Amino acid sequence: MGEPGRPYVVCPICGHVFRSTYASTYITVGREADLCPKIPGRPSDGARLIRSAVTMCPVCSFAAGEAFDDLDLTFDERYGIEERLKEDGLLKVFRKGQPPWLGFHAAEVCGKERSLTSRELGDLCLRASWVCRKEKERPFESTFQLRAMRHFMRSLQEDDLFGRELSVTTYLVGELNRRLGNHREALNWYVNAGRTTEGDPRVAWLDRLIDKQTKLAREQAA
Ligand SMILES: [Zn+2]
Repeated sequence: MGEPGRPYVVCPICGHVFRSTYASTYITVGREADLCPKIPGRPSDGARLIRSAVTMCPVCSFAAGEAFDDLDLTFDERYGIEERLKEDGLLKVFRKGQPPWLGFHAAEVCGKERSLTSRELGDLCLRASWVCRKEKERPFESTFQLRAMRHFMRSLQEDDLFGRELSVTTYLVGELNRRLGNHREALNWYVNAGRTTEGDPRVAWLDRLIDKQTKLAREQAA
């Protein structure tokens, strides 16, 4: 079935030509506490829209959040990516089955070779966890939450974050800890996040969220 408007893309690794998933914008009705967009309609439709943020080559599994045309990979990066895609354990097992989170995982694998920041790698894993939740893939949701949390913690040490990004990243480390059952850790990180906002009115929404989730984590820790 031809779908008009879906552009052809060329894989920068293996040269395969395919039609990309049309990355449409979508309407959200708020966000969950881990910032997962609430999208009207069936959860699987929401998952499909979130998934359209990454493009994955169906042949070699190269994936990225950016348009393939915009990527300017060096020879060494291309070689490194090919090796990583061949060696990756999850891709070996799941490439055929194409589970809904696979594109984000592949983008993380490739992103490491492309020197994405820890913040960006964490964001890919966080989105993968949202897709898993909407698709009711519970064990994989936790797997990606844990990976997102680790990338975000590294990001807080390495990426020179400031302002809103610093506050949101710190908060997310807390919220992911809470979702993984580490309620005491979560409480500590919410306190850290609250310190970074310093009453900035532009992040008042985050201060409210920190208060709400702190209460929740206290109840859960009790
Ligand atoms: Zn390819």
